[in-house]
Amino acid sequence: MSVVKVHNIRKSFGSVVVLKDISLEVQSGEVLVLLGRSGSGKSTLLRCLNGLETIEAGSIEVAGHPMTYNGESLRALRKDVGIVFQQYNLFPHMTIGQNIMLAPHLVKQVPKAEAEEKARKMLEKVGLLDKFHEYPDRLSGGQQQRAAIARSLAMEPKLMLFDEVTSALDPELTEEVLAVMAALAESGMAMVVVTHEMGFASKVADRVIFMDDGTIVEEGSPDTIFASPSTPQFRSFLARAN
Ligand code: ADP
Ligand code: MG
Repeated sequence: MSVVKVHNIRKSFGSVVVLKDISLEVQSGEVLVLLGRSGSGKSTLLRCLNGLETIEAGSIEVAGHPMTYNGESLRALRKDVGIVFQQYNLFPHMTIGQNIMLAPHLVKQVPKAEAEEKARKMLEKVGLLDKFHEYPDRLSGGQQQRAAIARSLAMEPKLMLFDEVTSALDPELTEEVLAVMAALAESGMAMVVVTHEMGFASKVADRVIFMDDGTIVEEGSPDTIFASPSTPQFRSFLARAN
C-alpha cells in the first residue's frame, strides 16, 4: 500500500522551477532517503508532502488524503503526517511534556490524562522520560530533536518526514538522533528522510533518491546506488560526501 503518491508535480518560486515533473511513491513501512546538493529541491519536495507548499501541476496523495489545499483537508492530512526540521521544533515556553501533549489534546481532543500518559510513553521511546518537566533550553540539541520526534509520534502519524534533523548537531549528538530514527524505521514507520548522513542512508534506507536541480536523477536500493552510481552528478556528489 502506498503512503505517498506523487505524480508529475511541478513547483516554481517566481520564474524558477524548483521541482520539475517529479513522481515518486512510498510504500507503508518503507524508508526513503532523499539526497542531493543544497538547492536541489529536497526541502521543497518534503514540504509539498504535508501541504506547506502548493504545486502548479501534478497530484499528491499522502496517507490516503488527496492534496486539495483546503483548510479542513490539510488539517486531516497533518494529523497523519509528522514533520521534523533542522531547527525551531519545540515551543520554548512550554516544558517537554507540555510540548508533546499539546497537539494530541488540542487537535485530537485526547483527554489530558491520556495525553500525558502517551507523552511519557513517547519520551521513553526516545530515551528522555526524565525530561518531562524540563524546558527545551535545558536540553542538548540532540535531546531537543529526540523530543521533537517524540512530539510528532504522539500524534500517531502514518508517515514521518525528516529534513536534515541532525545538520546542526555535533557528531555524538547526531548519532543519538539517528539511532532513534533507525529504531523508528525498524518499528515499521514509513519515513522520508532528507539527510547528508551516508551511513544512515546505507544502513536504514530501503530506497535512495538522488535529486539534482529539481529532478530525480538516480533511484535505487542503497546497496546498488552507492556501489554503482550511474550519473556524473551522483558520482561527484558522493565523492564530495566522503
Ligand atoms: P534543498 O532543500 O535541496 O537545499 P530547497 O528545496 O530548499 O533545496 O530549494 C530549492 C530551490 O528553491 C533553491 O533554489 C531555493 O533557493 C529555492 N527556494 C526554496 N524556498 C524558496 C522560497 N520560499 N522562495 C523562493 N525560493 C525558494
Ligand atoms: Mg533543504
